[in-house]
Amino acid sequence: MSLSEQWRAARVPVAGVHLDSAACSRQSNAVIEVAAAHARHEAEVGGYVAGEAAAPALDAGRAAVRALAGMAEAEVVFTTGSNHALDLLLSSWQGPRTLACLHGEYGPNLTIMAANGFEARLLPVDESGRLRVDAAAAVLRADPPALVHLTVLGSHRGIVQPLAELAQVCRDLGLPLVVDAAQGLGHVDCAVGPDVLYTSSRKWLAGPRGVGALAVRPELYAQLVPRWAPMELHEANIGSRLGFSLALGEHLADGPANTQARLAEIGALTRGVLADIAGWQVVEPAAEPSAITTLRPLDGAEPAVVRARLIAEHGIITTACEVGRAPHEMDGPVLRVSPHVDGSAADLEQFAAALVAVSS
Ligand SMILES: *Cc1c(COP(=O)(O)O)cnc(C)c1O
Repeated sequence: MSLSEQWRAARVPVAGVHLDSAACSRQSNAVIEVAAAHARHEAEVGGYVAGEAAAPALDAGRAAVRALAGMAEAEVVFTTGSNHALDLLLSSWQGPRTLACLHGEYGPNLTIMAANGFEARLLPVDESGRLRVDAAAAVLRADPPALVHLTVLGSHRGIVQPLAELAQVCRDLGLPLVVDAAQGLGHVDCAVGPDVLYTSSRKWLAGPRGVGALAVRPELYAQLVPRWAPMELHEANIGSRLGFSLALGEHLADGPANTQARLAEIGALTRGVLADIAGWQVVEPAAEPSAITTLRPLDGAEPAVVRARLIAEHGIITTACEVGRAPHEMDGPVLRVSPHVDGSAADLEQFAAALVAVSS
């Protein structure tokens, strides 16, 4: 069986067409079942006894995050998602409150940075929003911030940032690198050994909603002082953490490189099918190695309205990304299409026909 067939066979059938993995992928039946089984175990033996029994499986999840981040020694804590992870990191940080991030930084991250009193300086990018590594290195060398923050793959655009190159620059300059891998982990190679990496379960890793992880290099972790609780919340939905851990295990078993290659292929297929739709323009270069494709309306269609009609009239799910997702970079809302490894030309052609129907 191909990866695509295997992925589809591990899940309930889709009702309609699912082109929304960048928002929330489809969980496998095994991931759903492990969370349900944990709830039953809690009812049988008590929540805290069941929680102790779950520890080895959760440790396997932490080990999977270390492997995917290339952070062999990292402390890994479960969070409620990526935003929580960034807030936890920045609110616990004891050093100077300056950081550098990209021009296209994720809007909610900018809010969390500001809420924690961080001054965010924007690093130079090219017309597509891709980091200009040499220019960024010069800026970082001239006036080093306390932290460098890179969102390796954005929510608003499927451009894969040069993570390995920036990691090398940061190592050379002795600057700690923090990676937002909410869209990156399980999608593109993130195993570059940054100082901090955080992610969400429900996106490309196809775990449950409401859970994520923060991985921190031990020396840096030792310097963090959380405001009021231990770094990892004790009171949590352990079933969701178990589901996330299993989803990470499934991703490792599929072979991260296989998944990355297939997602790059599906992204290219998507942009090929959508290249010539009247009234819409594909934002990413055709061969960009990500499965996120965004469409900019040319004739005044409103992505939020189009999204709603695609669901109501065609059973097709996509995302409308408003400007707030990347307030310094977006000049208007876009429609985001994000199939997973099981995406097909037939699904994309069905979407293309529906898009024409709802936007005319
Ligand atoms: C979704 C997303 C987040 C936020 O993740 P949550 O788990 O919802 O907190 C952060 N960064 C990027 C790039 C995202 O796409």
